[in-house]
Amino acid sequence: MGEILIRGAEVIVTMDGTRRELKGADLLLRDGQIAAVGPRLESTGEVVEAKGCVVTPGLVNTHHHLYQTLTRAVPGGQDALLFGWLQTLYPIWAKMGPEEIRVSAQVGLAELALTGCTTSSDHLYMYPNGARLEDTIHAAAELGLRFHPTRGAMSIGESDGGLPPDSLVEREDAILNDCIRVVDAFHDAGEGSMCRVGIAPCSPFSVSRELMRDAALLARDKGVMLHTHLAENDEDISYSLEQFGCRPGQYAEDLGWTGEDVWHAHCVKLDAGEIDLFARTKTGVAHCPCSNCRLGSGIAPVRQMRDAGVKVALGVDGSASNDAGSLIGEARMAMLLQRVQNGADAMAAREALEIATLGGAQVLGRPDCGVIAPGKRADVAIWDVSGLEAAGAWDPVAALVLCGPPKVKHLFVEGRQVVRDGQVVTIDLPRVIETQNRLAARLMG
Ligand SMILES: [Zn+2]
Repeated sequence: MGEILIRGAEVIVTMDGTRRELKGADLLLRDGQIAAVGPRLESTGEVVEAKGCVVTPGLVNTHHHLYQTLTRAVPGGQDALLFGWLQTLYPIWAKMGPEEIRVSAQVGLAELALTGCTTSSDHLYMYPNGARLEDTIHAAAELGLRFHPTRGAMSIGESDGGLPPDSLVEREDAILNDCIRVVDAFHDAGEGSMCRVGIAPCSPFSVSRELMRDAALLARDKGVMLHTHLAENDEDISYSLEQFGCRPGQYAEDLGWTGEDVWHAHCVKLDAGEIDLFARTKTGVAHCPCSNCRLGSGIAPVRQMRDAGVKVALGVDGSASNDAGSLIGEARMAMLLQRVQNGADAMAAREALEIATLGGAQVLGRPDCGVIAPGKRADVAIWDVSGLEAAGAWDPVAALVLCGPPKVKHLFVEGRQVVRDGQVVTIDLPRVIETQNRLAARLMG
């Protein structure tokens, strides 16, 4: 791979140790890494003009269920709380197979790419009709996004008092064996890795205590990360108190689910003791503000978490509970919700942008990403602030979160261009959308 010179940016937002913002600067990408950042750089390679643009590190999405792009705005799930919403959607999801999983992943990841995301996690916890984790891994590789797929699972079906239908749950020994298979086949622990696999039983209410414990042991043995849903809403807390006799934080701690190799989605209902536990153990949080609004789950105590030193990142969550997948939109919503809760000075636009970039890289254990500095991976989002949305803005960096634009002009991942002039260039997106709509029609069937 050669060099790419990004020239004459209005501002480069570095997210480095002193959060430097460089006006009128250039950025040189070489062999998948950032080679240099500063004024008047030179290169014999390709030149990308960034006049009128803000350049940021690529955004990092730490929670998604990509397959759900096939079940957006489903009438029966539009106005339900979490448990009722799940019960409406499970039977539809049970009809999916490998093609649905692959195509829906491309749609979800393309949507993320266009909204500034260069690294995404995914939480796939059901494998109906022969679907496998690699259906999503291949989709991400084709599009060119850095991918952290997690091998999710559900094992307690309706007949055992669980929430999902029996057809969507798996035997626990089969789950653990498939976790081993996908980690061995696809996990790359190296610097600049484009694929890191995690282990991710769906939630405390859909798997057994034993599986939670065994998953943690396996993840530590393999040196991979752990992910699940935790403390999402009041129903979730009640379930934990009734079934396990303790709050979710205690449950997680008892089963090995705290530590810097663990991140939990939502955490809307963490109490002060749990926030302290997460800070002490360096456990990460994927904050999903739009999903929390959509399902009426509440406002996560992000201000308190950040002040206590908890690592917080953003997630769009699945497209059945958002139903959009705009990562820059999540940054804006995260900022707005903290202000609803704590006042107008509770979160600045720049802090929201930091959570969306550096915060995500920290939660996913990626010190090689999330910062624009020599030696870091060449994951870069270029936002054109010379157009309509930011017209009249006095502060182009804050404008990204306060005004827009809602989509990137260019996006580079590992130095490879994924979005050019607002269009995805690595896959035939119109055709993917057409296939997705055909598959959705079949599910509605
Ligand atoms: Zn989720």
